[in-house]
Amino acid sequence: CGIFAYLNYHVPRTRREILEILLKGLLRLEYRGYDSAGVGIDGGNGKEWEANARSIQLIKQSGKVKALDDEITKQQDMDMDVEFDVHLGIAHTRWATHGAPSPVNSHPQRSDKSNEFIVIHNGIITNYKDLRKFLESKGYEFESETDTETIAKLVKYMYDNRESEDLSFATLVERVTQQLEGAFVLVFKSVHYPGEAVGTRRGGPLLIGVKSDHKLSTDHIPILYRSCTLLNCCVSNVLYCMSPDKKSVEYYFASDASAVIEHTNRVIFLEDDDVAAVTNGRLTIHRIKRTAGDHPARAIQTLQ
Ligand code: GLU
Repeated sequence: CGIFAYLNYHVPRTRREILEILLKGLLRLEYRGYDSAGVGIDGGNGKEWEANARSIQLIKQSGKVKALDDEITKQQDMDMDVEFDVHLGIAHTRWATHGAPSPVNSHPQRSDKSNEFIVIHNGIITNYKDLRKFLESKGYEFESETDTETIAKLVKYMYDNRESEDLSFATLVERVTQQLEGAFVLVFKSVHYPGEAVGTRRGGPLLIGVKSDHKLSTDHIPILYRSCTLLNCCVSNVLYCMSPDKKSVEYYFASDASAVIEHTNRVIFLEDDDVAAVTNGRLTIHRIKRTAGDHPARAIQTLQ
């Protein structure tokens, strides 16, 4: 029922610091109610962040965030002092709707045993049975009873069947969400897109906090956007993008501003069918579906 993700881009953080930020974020969302919690972080213990990002480690537990914290301390093979120049960690508190509270039903849910794609989800996928049947017919073996696991497997299916090598993470996620019915807030992480995050929402809250000591350039692209509205075409429209010019920046994805306010007061609230992606430290937000009328240009807000 709570989503929190933290991406540090050229801001060196130890694994211990990253986990502390993630768990604190979850604690701030506790008031929303939950029965289990989990995190997904990079698995490697080497010196190169990019090599470390080629494997993902999941730690999940039923009960309180404290129980997850205890489970993290038990992980013997994780070097807590290893430093990541770039890293994405995703964290979730679950309020079970499909499948009892248990570690395997907790989020992140995964695409396969080697955790190629992981996803955290708030909400309910109403057509998950059909999706699951389809994916099972393609040989996917499910391990949980959740509706969410179908999303994790569908993203891998679409990735494995992509028509071109340079498919972006954002486009992949757009394609996945076009197959989903119901209400969802999602954040994805993948070994195939190291240091990248994609989040989207339909029928639930998601915001992105931005923190940087550098001046951030923001580019609205109103001409492209307006012409698309007139033509009513279905291409994705860039609503907003921001580039820290390859300088250091930190992003926080959260269900609620209370989880990011201690880090930054600069936030962007996503709207339904927005897909927000961070690639090379740059945040881009697309709108998936065309809806009639003009959309207000998105802007960073300063929380009071
Ligand atoms: N439907 C999902 C599940 O039961 C997500 C529930 C939630 O919003 O926490 O796993």
